[in-house]
Amino acid sequence: MSEERSLNFIEEIIENDLKEGKVKTILTRFPPEPNGYLHIGHAKSICLNFGLGIKYGGKTNLRFDDTNPVTEETEYVESIKADVKWLGFEWASELYASDYFDQLYNFAEKLIQKGLAYVDDSASEEIAEQKGTPTQPGRRNRCADRSPEENLQLFREMRSGIYPDGSKVLRIKGDMSSPNMLMRDPIIYRIKHAHHHRTGDKWCIYPMYDFAHGQSDSIEGITHSICTLEFVPHRELYDWLIEKLNIFPSRQYEFARLNMTYTVMSKRKLLELVNEGFVESWDDPRMPTISGMRRRGYTAKAIRDFCDRIGVAKRENLIDLGLLEFFVREDLNKTALRRMAVLDPVKLVITNYEEGRFELLPSENNPEMPETGDRLLHFGRELWIEREDFMEEASKKWFRLAPGSVVRLKSAYIVRCTGFEKDASGNLTTVFAEYLPESKSGSDTSGVHAKGTIHWISAPHAVTAEVRLYDRLFKVEDPSSEEGDFKSYINPDSLHIIHKAYIEPDLLKAQPGIAYQFLRKGYFVLDSVYSTPDHFVFNRTVTLKDTWAKEAKKG
Ligand code: ATP
Ligand code: MG
Repeated sequence: MSEERSLNFIEEIIENDLKEGKVKTILTRFPPEPNGYLHIGHAKSICLNFGLGIKYGGKTNLRFDDTNPVTEETEYVESIKADVKWLGFEWASELYASDYFDQLYNFAEKLIQKGLAYVDDSASEEIAEQKGTPTQPGRRNRCADRSPEENLQLFREMRSGIYPDGSKVLRIKGDMSSPNMLMRDPIIYRIKHAHHHRTGDKWCIYPMYDFAHGQSDSIEGITHSICTLEFVPHRELYDWLIEKLNIFPSRQYEFARLNMTYTVMSKRKLLELVNEGFVESWDDPRMPTISGMRRRGYTAKAIRDFCDRIGVAKRENLIDLGLLEFFVREDLNKTALRRMAVLDPVKLVITNYEEGRFELLPSENNPEMPETGDRLLHFGRELWIEREDFMEEASKKWFRLAPGSVVRLKSAYIVRCTGFEKDASGNLTTVFAEYLPESKSGSDTSGVHAKGTIHWISAPHAVTAEVRLYDRLFKVEDPSSEEGDFKSYINPDSLHIIHKAYIEPDLLKAQPGIAYQFLRKGYFVLDSVYSTPDHFVFNRTVTLKDTWAKEAKKG
């Protein structure tokens, strides 16, 4: 939405920094760890960082925070790049924290030489125990008394590979009585004999997040390093390291993570859903991942508008999934071509329409975009209609088909229902009707008023398709805050497959990424994974109306 909004607190800081000349041009970064696919929470961070770069004539880097060799994979790097591009953003430079391993190592030696870091041989339990508690100061062990020379030699030996994993760490000489536990001699290097996706076997010591992140910001000259609230306690160490190393003064600012109802948003949890088969893949259309949303038919514009609307908060909150769907509908209503599809078909026979005769009737592609014109639909004696559009015994408020009722067939004629037929087990098989020849759409002289309009497809021309309908992935609003395993709150009916629906033949042209509105049924998109030229599979992106809000009101 382009309406004017007031500045968020980060924009205020930036405008002030620019005005006071503290920075000439801004440089932000989006720093994903390549250990999973991006989700809608990351989209928030992407829109924020890249959006600021664009708004203030600056730039934004894409930096892979790949300092943990064990969990990172090239597959994730590729998916992250594809997702950022799809969202519509261009990075100034593609960078990797692992490219800075040499510089980071040199920074560590510098701290050792200044007497600000030491090698500790204690076991990790011991280190944890010596840290104290928030109300009790910690204490140092004898390793902290080592001379810079000894520390330097030990650190170089750590690097040379002679020590096993976990036998030594490099720690900052911070303040063991600081109220901020992160300042109590934090670990900045650990030994890990592991292969790294980019540096291979060159290193067996790896920097910890706190040592790599801020220093990478400085190396790149990031002016505003924006992260989420859980990093507030890290800011003291971030500033301390920049000061002691006397490097470019990047500044960290924190905003609230995006949390959304009926889903989970941590990569670890999403990976569990994939690995344990609750969903099929990272890009399962039910996933809150960017790739899942893309496959489901959400548009990049809808996601950007949503991120813009929710703004930048300083307090954690839970955003209604319905708000994202609102933006999806709003965008698709403008752009999606209208088509007819019958999801639960039943035959309608127009008994006074000649067998073997067909006519071509125009129907508009998108009333929101008159320039898209019309398409021609075959109309004939036998049509498919929705089973739910017929009722044997109808109330007064029923404006669709029932014995004796009149209804308009969209873009075609008014029909009067004359009867129906059921099979031996009582299932409706056929509805019969007569059409009013003077009631043709656009030149109706019948004088008959039909209160309801239904969609239909000429039976001999209809194409078969599979249609997948989705519901929310979890039964509860906030599965992460519920007791026990979040996976026990999965909605068992989040996927409903219709094996045989009928679609207009024009939909043979459908491509993944091109949205359609199936009249009265919602927005749909061809599935990029399961669809083949002989087997069409459509995903429902979103319904036309917010049925959940209605349900919630019912209680
Ligand atoms: P997760 O907990 O899902 O694994 P993460 O923070 O570990 O997320 P990173 O790859 O480290 O994932 O995140 C890259 C950037 O995206 C970071 O700046 C992070 O703060 C931001 N980010 C991650 N999740 C969210 C979220 N839910 N809302 C807003 N920003 C987020
Ligand atoms: Mg992280």
